[in-house]
Amino acid sequence: MVRLNDALKAVAEALAFDRRRKAEELRHKLALHDEARTKLRSDLDTNAAAGARVYTYKPVIDAVPQCPRCWIQRARQEPIIEQGSGGENALFKCSECGCEVPVDP
Ligand SMILES: [Zn+2]
Repeated sequence: MVRLNDALKAVAEALAFDRRRKAEELRHKLALHDEARTKLRSDLDTNAAAGARVYTYKPVIDAVPQCPRCWIQRARQEPIIEQGSGGENALFKCSECGCEVPVDP
């Protein structure tokens, strides 16, 4: 009878070992999902906030034109400077991010 007990117990231990290993694998996968979820949440918040900044964008502050990209993407007020007008359109350029905005005369 001891042999039966040992045989059954050995099978149970082998099955339990497999399940523990599977549980560990799933724990790891869940941790990766948590990391991905945290990153997605952060990206979502960043993009939602950037999109909402359009409502507070001031194209001109104290007579200085402001770069729209710097405001929307980084919440920074940077001047956008008119480059030499060589033609029909004026070209405004931000020295911080390189954003260019052509403006009809
Ligand atoms: Zn800029």
